[in-house]
Amino acid sequence: MDVQLLEATEDPERLICQAARNDYMEEFVGETSFEEIMEEVGGDSLEDRQETLIHHLLDHGHFGPFEHPHATFAVKGISRSCMAQITRHRHVSFDVQSMRYVSFDDVDPADVREGEMVVVPPSVDDPDWVGRNQDTGPVDDETAKRREELFRETIENAFDSYQELLEMGLPPEDARYVLPIGTKVNMVMSMNARMLMHVADMRAAADAQWEIRQMTEAILDLAAEWCPITFEQYEAEMKNRKNRLAP
Ligand SMILES: Cc1cc2nc3c(=O)[nH]c(=O)nc-3n(C[C@H](O)[C@H](O)[C@H](O)COP(=O)(O)OP(=O)(O)OC[C@H]3O[C@@H](n4cnc5c(N)ncnc54)[C@H](O)[C@@H]3O)c2cc1C
Repeated sequence: MDVQLLEATEDPERLICQAARNDYMEEFVGETSFEEIMEEVGGDSLEDRQETLIHHLLDHGHFGPFEHPHATFAVKGISRSCMAQITRHRHVSFDVQSMRYVSFDDVDPADVREGEMVVVPPSVDDPDWVGRNQDTGPVDDETAKRREELFRETIENAFDSYQELLEMGLPPEDARYVLPIGTKVNMVMSMNARMLMHVADMRAAADAQWEIRQMTEAILDLAAEWCPITFEQYEAEMKNRKNRLAP
């Protein structure tokens, strides 16, 4: 998996402050300098004032201003299972690599075994891994070996059959039906800072699956660089809270 920040609102925290101060100012933000807009907020420097205001907004659940800055992320090589989970979030915009127009016809099925085209979950290689909602505990070495072999054999066979079906003239849009849910996909997604916090509330939480957690943690790292005051406070105080989208 690779997660990159493709594009994002420049100076997002200035925009958050402008939007928030608009609510409480007689003057029009469009005709007032940022320094004047922030004059009444506590702090020695402009940066301090931004920090004060953003902390205040987050502490009080005044999340509207965080809807103005947007970020676009490119995600490489997540499973279609993970993609199905993240695309449930209705305020995120997505572009998903097509399996109708992209056919994976030059892949060596032997590479598929090694995770070239399909995400291989850590539990496949790690006998001690215990997943959520799992009735059994760690397994013995023989079972672990057989389990890994069965997993790798199955994904290799699936890609083998897929390519054979393509060679026999089946359209890619129909041949793809034999591919596993772990098949890798690339995606572009955009969301505002408020939604990013909501996605992280749900998907970086302990009860989310390891793959979407890993992706969300990578997004949060990028968000902390892009919008630092907001996401540093989010990481420190708000992550994993329940009852998330307060007014
Ligand atoms: C650990 C975990 C397990 C899950 N398991 C399942 C499962 O087994 N099956 C399954 O189907 N889903 C499952 N989900 C998905 C979950 O039910 C949500 O559909 C998904 O996380 C989207 O989040 P959201 O409901 O907050 O909506 P989002 O689309 O992210 O919207 C954000 C917020 O906007 C508001 N909103 C958006 N649309 C509406 C609307 N139409 N009406 C009212 N309010 C709205 C809500 O306040 C919502 O919280 C799971 C999620 C998690 C985190």
